[in-house]
Amino acid sequence: MFLSISPYNIDMNNESQKIAVIIGAGPAGLSAAYALAKSGKVRPLVFETSAGPGGLAKTVNYKGNRLDIGGHRFFTKSQVVKDFWQEIMPSFMKRPRQSRIFFAGKFFN
Ligand SMILES: Cc1cc2nc3c(=O)[nH]c(=O)nc-3n(C[C@H](O)[C@H](O)[C@H](O)COP(=O)(O)OP(=O)(O)OC[C@H]3O[C@@H](n4cnc5c(N)ncnc54)[C@H](O)[C@@H]3O)c2cc1C
Repeated sequence: MFLSISPYNIDMNNESQKIAVIIGAGPAGLSAAYALAKSGKVRPLVFETSAGPGGLAKTVNYKGNRLDIGGHRFFTKSQVVKDFWQEIMPSFMKRPRQSRIFFAGKFFN
């Protein structure tokens, strides 16, 4: 799969535009592509080996059920990251959650 992300100031017809090739459309690759596209200076091209974007944080449809493969909760102490999340997902819902790993008869958190 190939994604060309150009929601901002990228002139797709400008052949002298700098291009950044990004391998992988997981959260890291998509965040990098978004930041580059927003800068208007570099045109990001994202190459993804699987059928769709999202990486380990994607939601898949399995027998009619939508399942998160991995990441589905957002936590950070970084204000820069918080601001970025609010920018791209302004309708965040806050939910009290407790996550623990059960191993060898004990809970770890
Ligand atoms: C079970 C589980 C639960 C998790 N829960 C959370 C959570 O609650 N909150 C949270 O913040 N994080 C969580 N994470 C972690 C989060 O999913 C990862 O940190 C995040 O997905 C990493 O993003 P990434 O872009 O670096 O890599 P990935 O998500 O791994 O994306 C990499 C992408 O690159 C593609 N790729 C790889 N090689 C190539 C290639 N040669 N050519 C083209 N494409 C390629 C892959 O197909 C993939 O789409 C969880 C992870 C797991 C496994």
